[in-house]
Amino acid sequence: MNNKRIWLSLAHMGGHEQKFIQEAFDTNWVVPLGPNVDGFEKDLEAFLAQERHIVALSAGTAAIHLGLIQLGVGPGDEVACQSFTFSASANPIKYLGADPVFVDSEPDTWNMSPGFLREAIEDRIAKMGKKPKAIIPVHLYGMPAKMDEIMAIAREYEIPVLEDAAEAIGSEYKGRKCGTFGEFACLSFNGNKMITTSGGGALVCRTGEEAKHTKFLATQARDQAPHYQHSHIGYNYRMSNICAGIGRGQMLVLRDHVARRREINALYRKLLEDVPGVSFLVNPNADFNSNHWLTCIVVNPDVAGFSREDIRMKMEEENIETRPLWKPMHLQPVFAGTPYYGGNTAEKLFDNGLCLPSGSSLSDEDIQRVADVVRETAGKA
Ligand SMILES: *Cc1c(COP(=O)(O)O)cnc(C)c1O
Repeated sequence: MNNKRIWLSLAHMGGHEQKFIQEAFDTNWVVPLGPNVDGFEKDLEAFLAQERHIVALSAGTAAIHLGLIQLGVGPGDEVACQSFTFSASANPIKYLGADPVFVDSEPDTWNMSPGFLREAIEDRIAKMGKKPKAIIPVHLYGMPAKMDEIMAIAREYEIPVLEDAAEAIGSEYKGRKCGTFGEFACLSFNGNKMITTSGGGALVCRTGEEAKHTKFLATQARDQAPHYQHSHIGYNYRMSNICAGIGRGQMLVLRDHVARRREINALYRKLLEDVPGVSFLVNPNADFNSNHWLTCIVVNPDVAGFSREDIRMKMEEENIETRPLWKPMHLQPVFAGTPYYGGNTAEKLFDNGLCLPSGSSLSDEDIQRVADVVRETAGKA
């Protein structure tokens, strides 16, 4: 029996990464900054296909942090943030001494509900006498959030948007790439994301000025002077020229990786279409084009006759890695007492949802093996 471990989402090298790293070694650019960093930023700008300026950083979390700084978020401020997400969307709010206000998801995209966002803004204005300083919607699992509705509310209340596109490189909303809607956006190249630099991220900026200021903040905020002089608090957040070399290699296969993740999603849906009580996160209509970073299922135990935990434990027995959906931020011990606007959409998804192995290096046979476990649990083997 073939029982090799199937992982959720592994790094998937394209073959040209080491060439760029070798170049860095040959020219002794083994530092933050360098030709690979510039090249990677240009590749990303071309890929996003909008007038945007990219700054490569050490992590997606660092990108969110530097974005919020430039939106003026500071002590005493509030930031409206999607609750159903990974903690890195919200942590930088706290780094700045500000407080999150969590907003529930809507059931179509599993992302920020425009209705609850409006309710949150209205209520914070009533209770605090001021509106949130920024809005952080997330394109979770690669599914674009309802950006038209969210941007309309943001414009109406004149609140800037920082898009968390960490999981959504290659996803499109109305034909436009995720990460090109907000005032700022973050991308992530962590090990399990769509493409990886072993660890890294980027801030998507609207203007060259903002990009320049981001680079300044990310390299310890050194003033123009022959000696080391500082008038601002700086950070050491720049991407290294070695990591960016991996990134340049990954850019050559990004389109293939997106295509393969979409193929894997379609294959799962075909293999499991006749299993009652198991549903998928799908593009709600033609405006949405997810990269399907991870294929997610939701089990309705009343219909299915089994639970998400039944599947997850059976997968573990079969040496297959799966993961429950993100635990909403408003349920996290660290954010106890934080204001929350919404119902139980995110909570229900957390209770009943599961991420299936979706890495672009998985074979059709691997996907079949995973689907068979679900089918066996459902008595449909
Ligand atoms: C991965 C991720 C981040 C953070 O990116 P890092 O590069 O790991 O710091 C932020 N938000 C979401 C939704 C993510 O999945």
